[in-house]
Amino acid sequence: MPTKPLDRLIFAQGGLCFFCKEPLPKGEESVEHLVASANGGNSNLENCVACCKTVNRLLGSMSLKEKFQVVLNQRGEFNCPARTVKTGPAPKTPAKPPTAAQTREQRLELIVANLRQRGSARPRTLKTLRSTIAALFGKTLADKELDALLEGLQSAGTIAVDGAKLTYDL
Ligand SMILES: [Zn+2]
Repeated sequence: MPTKPLDRLIFAQGGLCFFCKEPLPKGEESVEHLVASANGGNSNLENCVACCKTVNRLLGSMSLKEKFQVVLNQRGEFNCPARTVKTGPAPKTPAKPPTAAQTREQRLELIVANLRQRGSARPRTLKTLRSTIAALFGKTLADKELDALLEGLQSAGTIAVDGAKLTYDL
């Protein structure tokens, strides 16, 4: 029976990274504390998983909630950054980080692409759509710009507003 905590974790995980389920190469494996040590997490096996160093660094001392967010944001396909950088397939949507230099058209395209990805998990009210869009652009947009984008979506028929309710035609 492997005795080092890291070895035990790797054994329990079948030699796979906890997050991406890819084999953990020698030298890449590391212990990730789910509740970070900095946040009072202990080193018991229940609080630890084995994963690639890259993911471990990425999660760093995020709160458990933030880590959940990262995992959930992958929508069931956790492509390890460790691998997508080196040998992995090209990311499916090489979305450029949104910048202020984008035209309104480009922003609208980004929003529509994002809404399509969300499937049935789209915002149901104008208010939540507005904050979704704000978050999509890293909260860099002015209120006026957000209004303009929402208007753009409406005039393109992408969204229809009925009272507080939203319907989509993507
Ligand atoms: Zn991994």
